[in-house]
Amino acid sequence: MDSDVDTEALTARLKGFEGRTAATGGTGKDPVNLPMIRHWCEAMGDTHPAYTGPDAIAPPTMLQVWTMGGLSGHPARAAAYDELLGLLDAAGFTSVVATDCEQEYPRPLRPGEEVTFDTVVESVSDRKTTRLGTGHFVTTRTELRVGAELVGTHRFRILKYAPARRPSAREPDRPRRPRPVVNRDNAGFWEGVRQGRLLIQRCTACTRPRHPWLPGCNACGGQDWDTVEAVGTGHVHSYVVMHHPRFPAFDPPYAVALIDLAEGVRMLGNVVGVPYDKVRVGLPVRVEFQVCDEELTLPVWRAGEKELTLPDRRAGEEAAG
Ligand code: ZN
Repeated sequence: MDSDVDTEALTARLKGFEGRTAATGGTGKDPVNLPMIRHWCEAMGDTHPAYTGPDAIAPPTMLQVWTMGGLSGHPARAAAYDELLGLLDAAGFTSVVATDCEQEYPRPLRPGEEVTFDTVVESVSDRKTTRLGTGHFVTTRTELRVGAELVGTHRFRILKYAPARRPSAREPDRPRRPRPVVNRDNAGFWEGVRQGRLLIQRCTACTRPRHPWLPGCNACGGQDWDTVEAVGTGHVHSYVVMHHPRFPAFDPPYAVALIDLAEGVRMLGNVVGVPYDKVRVGLPVRVEFQVCDEELTLPVWRAGEKELTLPDRRAGEEAAG
């Protein structure tokens, strides 16, 4: 660990960057334009009429969009800012997280306007310890102009930090999988899973199977039900591969799929037994009960083996037991 004297010396050096230029004479990749406004509004679900038509303005919160350098980055970035980040890296504050952003909009931006910007390092905080780890907050202030006119300011704060040490995946105190929310409507499903049985609710009035478990039938409104045990076979209806965000109990990348069960209902679950990039729509799978810890068993879906019928599965379990 470094001493208080070292900490103070570094903090003083970092604070020496306050007021220095972080970017100068920057321009966005494109002038303010209707296609980008339209994409943004669609992504945000913003249907405000001011953002369409011949007199459209840009949504104010698009401000930063007009300064972005894209994947190829910005030539505008000043050496002082890289120097500041390099100093933080060298001190062990190698991780970064954006913490907050404040913007001001002196006037709306209109299609065709060319935005330029300059950024200064507004402040570097004293050393702080957060739940993520210990480090320094760095706040930059960007002023956006059209010609000489100020059209927006954008204050952006990051935390450069040394991550708090966390147990690795192999350590026994690894965080546990999140618990399912068990309530009086679905308790029977989870009790079945605990016993290694996949139970599907079935309406006794119209015989329609349903999942997830609900108090009433979507087809006829009937409130009486019994259960059928799924044979445990199905195929992938659709899937996603999770890369990000990283949750403590998970090891990305991994595939989460919506499975079409032989009984005609769909269930979500992890696909196991094949690499995540081999999961595809239509892949045959069968259920397996994964014991996560002493309290939690989860149904997962194993690919890559022949489909089994229920008697086969029972026989297999007996043979294994
Ligand atoms: Zn029904």
